[in-house]
Parts: sequence; C-alpha cells; structure tokens
Amino acid sequence: MYLSASAKLVPNTEVRLLDCIAEGISSDDAVHRINEFRPDVVLAIMAIEYFDNDVMFLQRLKRELPMALIGCFGHLPGNFQRETLDAAKCDFVLVGEPDQSFKQLLERRAAGGETAGDGVACYAEGSDFIPAEFQRIEDIDVLPYADQDAIDHSLYSEPFFGKPYTVFQSSRGCPFPCSYCVRSYGRKLVMASAVHVVGEVEAAVRDHGIRYFRFMDDTFTASRKRVLKICDGLAKLNLDISWSCLTRPNTIDAEVAAALKKAGCKRVYVGIESGSQKVLDYLNRGYKLDAVMDNLRAVRASGLEMVGWFIVGSPAEEREDFEASLQLARDLKLEFVAVSTLVPYPATDLYEREQTDIEFSLLPYRCVFTEQPGTELESEFYKRYYMTPSFIVGKMGYLAKHPGQSAKGAKEFLQYVVTSRRNPDRKDLL
Ligand code: SF4
Repeated sequence: MYLSASAKLVPNTEVRLLDCIAEGISSDDAVHRINEFRPDVVLAIMAIEYFDNDVMFLQRLKRELPMALIGCFGHLPGNFQRETLDAAKCDFVLVGEPDQSFKQLLERRAAGGETAGDGVACYAEGSDFIPAEFQRIEDIDVLPYADQDAIDHSLYSEPFFGKPYTVFQSSRGCPFPCSYCVRSYGRKLVMASAVHVVGEVEAAVRDHGIRYFRFMDDTFTASRKRVLKICDGLAKLNLDISWSCLTRPNTIDAEVAAALKKAGCKRVYVGIESGSQKVLDYLNRGYKLDAVMDNLRAVRASGLEMVGWFIVGSPAEEREDFEASLQLARDLKLEFVAVSTLVPYPATDLYEREQTDIEFSLLPYRCVFTEQPGTELESEFYKRYYMTPSFIVGKMGYLAKHPGQSAKGAKEFLQYVVTSRRNPDRKDLL
C-alpha cells in the first residue's frame, strides 16, 4: 500500500495492487488479470518460506509478458540479488526499502531511461550484472500515506476485531540486537513523526471508515517519547477505534501501557520468546528476564489484551527451558500465544554464527538447523496452553464479550492453532 502510494506520484501512471492472498486469487487467475491490465512494469514481493513458488510465478509472468519490466523485492531477493534474477528470469530486484527506488525506476522508464539506478540490481545491456546497495529512507514523513484504496478492507481482520480493518507502518528497522531477526530493513530505526502518524490514522478513519487497525512496526514502542506523543494525539482525536501493535518487554511499562489503552489500543503483541534466560541469551535478546517481569505484569494489569510470541526448538533449549516458557505464558495469563520454531534465516547474526550447523539452500528453499525437531514443540505448546479446562472456562467469558464475532473468530482461531506455520494454507491471524 505504501509502494502503491509512491508509484501513484509518478505522472501519467496507473497503478493496480493485486492482493492475491487476501482475495484468494489463484496463480492462473493472477496471470490472467495481469495480462488484461497489460502493465509496463510489474513488482512482486517475495515470501521467504515460499520463495520457490514465487520464483516460478515470476518465470511464468516473464514468459507471458515478455515486454513488461518485471521485478521483485524482499529479504531473499535483496540478499541474493543475482541468484534471484537468474532463477526468476526477471529484470530487476529492488534492494532495501523499495518506495523511492521503485518510484525513481518508474520515472526513468517513463522518460525512456535505463532500468539501473539507486537500489536496483539488474543486468546491463551486454549482460554485466549490476549489484545494488541496500537502500534506507532517512525521512519517512516525506512518504505519502499508505494507499488505502489499494485493498479491500473487508478481507482483513485479526481475531475478535471487527472491520473495516487496515495496517500502518509508522517506523522502519529495529535497533535491538536479536540474532535471529529478519528486521524490516535493518537495525537503523527510522520513525515517522507523531504528527505524521496521527495524521495518517485520522485520514484513514475519515476517508475510508477504518475502525480497526494494527501498527505493523517491528517494535512500535521502540521510542518511548514518540509512542507517548502518538497516543496523546490519537486520544485527543477521540475516534471510535480499536487497534493493536507489536512491542517488546523492555520497551513497555505501566505508563506506556496506560497511554496505549487511552488511545484505543486493545491488544499488544509482545515478543516474549522464552521463559528461560539461557535461551534469551542464545537469541541475543539483550535484556534480563528478571528485569522485564514488572513490565509484563504492568501490561497484564493495564487491561490491554496481551498476546505472547514464543520461539521454541532453538539449539540452546532443553526440556526445562521449554517448560519455563509454557509456565511464563500461564503465569501471565496471556489471552493468546503464538509459537514458532526457530529458523536460522540467512543474512542474520544467528545464521552467520551457526553456519556450520545449518542446512541452507536457496532453490529449492530450505533453511533449518541440521539437528532440530520439526514443528512438534509448537503443537505441544499450543495444546498444553489452550486445551486446559481453566483456559477454556476463562475464554467463555471472553467469547461472550464478542458475541458478533465469536463463532467465526473462534473457528478461525482454532484452525490457526492446529495448522503448522509451514503449511501454505495457514491464515496469518496473529
Ligand atoms: S525486537 Fe523484535 S523486531 Fe526488533 S530485532 Fe528483536 S525480534 Fe527483531
């Protein structure tokens, strides 16, 4: 949506966003629709887990639209620029934040210029490979608001939230040291000003009737000063909104939690990751669990819903560490947990550190520790957390508070819980 907004700034440019996953558009149908539109340029985001699939799709698109300039971006294309170009048979890869490099590419194209430019990896005439430097945008306030016209808001939601729903990203990058993390564009944190953020929310509410949303920032609370200003601005608008955001235990305390709540935040997603200091150290989380427990208890006491993200199956984790994570989730009485098996993604500190114990191949895509359980620990965590009489009884009251959404929300949620993250049909609920 942000890319769409930037592309629309190029004069005489018609932009379409094909939201295939949300709209349930098949590959065949996507090719058909793209063919009908006859685009001059196509840009696709490439998923990590389904990279092979996305590569095959781009190959097909290039065969069907040989005259169109076809490109992609994402974590793997940015870190494997030449390999992606060769495999996908596409024309360019955008490296780093794509907003401005994409806009500039469209401007060059409109003027009959070259594909190559800042942030664009491609082959030059004569087949010399031109790599690109990782792009960062220094001032997000100069970017347009997300193009809310580009998606069907009725297709989006999150458990027990209503519609119309959307997402915002008010900062990019994350300054914390977690070794396993594929951040949105690196460790340098670049934030939109509170005025810009509040203005974007207000415009979406006013122009699109948005009532529910999530801030997708890696760590929305990374800057205490800014988050308090944003909350103050949103509270003053007195809008009928419910929203959620992502946070981390050492960036949220009682004051921040109270400010979030006053501004309409209903739910925080907290990267707790583990109840074991040994595992937190292995993941390089950068804080002591003892030191953040008061924060977590303050969030619990604030009345915000708290969803805890946990990582299981790391090489450092033993049975007692797994049990400590489960116990922590129970002690905090988290509304929901979301559990993932640790993946040593390429171009992370973890990958560099553990390279000799990792099986990695780009195509077919495979990235796992040589000795690691499958997704059994995820399933065990879910079952032992959710399938207990006390949790189920506790949730009945919760479901009664959301009568309009209970049946559908509960069904979607149960499907989410029992479906592995590696299953391509799993909906991304949390
Ligand atoms: S706090 Fe979250 S987003 Fe930031 S580096 Fe750690 S895992 Fe990544």
